[in-house]
Amino acid sequence: MRTWEANIRNVEPYVPGEQPKGADLIKLNTNENPYPPSPSVEKALKELDYDQFRKYPDPKASDLVHVLSEYYGVGNDEVFVGVGSDDVIAMAFMTFFNSELPILFPDVSYSFYKVWAELFGIPYKTPVLQEDFTIRKEDYYKANGGIIFSNPNAPTGVLLPLDEVEAIIAHNQNSVVIIDEAYIDFGGESAVKLTRKYENLLVVQTFSKSRSLAGMRIGYAIGHPDLIRSIHDVKYSYNSYTMNMPSLILGREAVKDDNYFKECLDKIIKTREEAKKRLKDLGFSFPDSKANFIFAAHKEIKAEDIYKALREAHIFVRYFNLPRLDNYLRITIGTEEEMKQLFDFLEAFLSN
Ligand SMILES: *Cc1c(COP(=O)(O)O)cnc(C)c1O
Repeated sequence: MRTWEANIRNVEPYVPGEQPKGADLIKLNTNENPYPPSPSVEKALKELDYDQFRKYPDPKASDLVHVLSEYYGVGNDEVFVGVGSDDVIAMAFMTFFNSELPILFPDVSYSFYKVWAELFGIPYKTPVLQEDFTIRKEDYYKANGGIIFSNPNAPTGVLLPLDEVEAIIAHNQNSVVIIDEAYIDFGGESAVKLTRKYENLLVVQTFSKSRSLAGMRIGYAIGHPDLIRSIHDVKYSYNSYTMNMPSLILGREAVKDDNYFKECLDKIIKTREEAKKRLKDLGFSFPDSKANFIFAAHKEIKAEDIYKALREAHIFVRYFNLPRLDNYLRITIGTEEEMKQLFDFLEAFLSN
């Protein structure tokens, strides 16, 4: 072995969903929004002053922070923005999870939590979700160094009602509780309204799913000014100019067009509810989803076989070859037309 190899950090990285290339495919595998961003985003993009790119972007991201704080009715000092919620959550792990006690997150959840815990050397425990994939709140009523879970959960789509989220926060006022609300706009009640009641609560959201801007990489956190100040201190100790200039401008425009945002959400929710009926008719079962995807298992055909057949037909869904999850497909809600093609294929495939 070469001597320097002994000093290399060995990590097992997060595996992101595939980004297949090509025009003729239906991409229902990474929970992107099937609709384009607001027309006002397109307009702002065309009006971008490229000469400005000579300069560094605003390290405080003040304009974007300000539209978000107005949107949620909080102060500028209660908002942190970063390069997608992945960046925001990674910063939050570094900032808040420094106890010797383990942090807690569900065994079935966003798989990045474990990767960050390993990367930053944070001890962790993963309470097992109940048989129906719901969180048992009492599992989080024990000493810990912090708590994080997604709500609705990924990859199940299961929503924990806000009163149970609050019970978990209320029982854990000695550690920071992070609620990852990547999918909350698709039908859940946000914990943002609790951030003034609980100083230890950080709510994280993203522009990647509900706001159709995954490619721009914008995420944010809302919480008590002391939490936000601490996370800023860590961010400025790591990389002060995280967000690029176009993202700051286009993100701001997306927030301002609330009508378009709500229209897209309504369409996706309607398509999701129709998809639930179609899946049931085809022999699938699934936990009820409040996200923009459905986590479905077929009563006879193995998920892996369906996944492979779909792939050959250029329809991409997500398959996790993991214990407990390996008979499910995570199907992102696409446009009505994309879903029609999915169901046409499934109908033919399953009747063979
Ligand atoms: C997609 C997702 C994220 C990360 O999204 P970004 O694109 O980095 O904002 C975080 N948490 C969950 C649960 C997600 O599904």
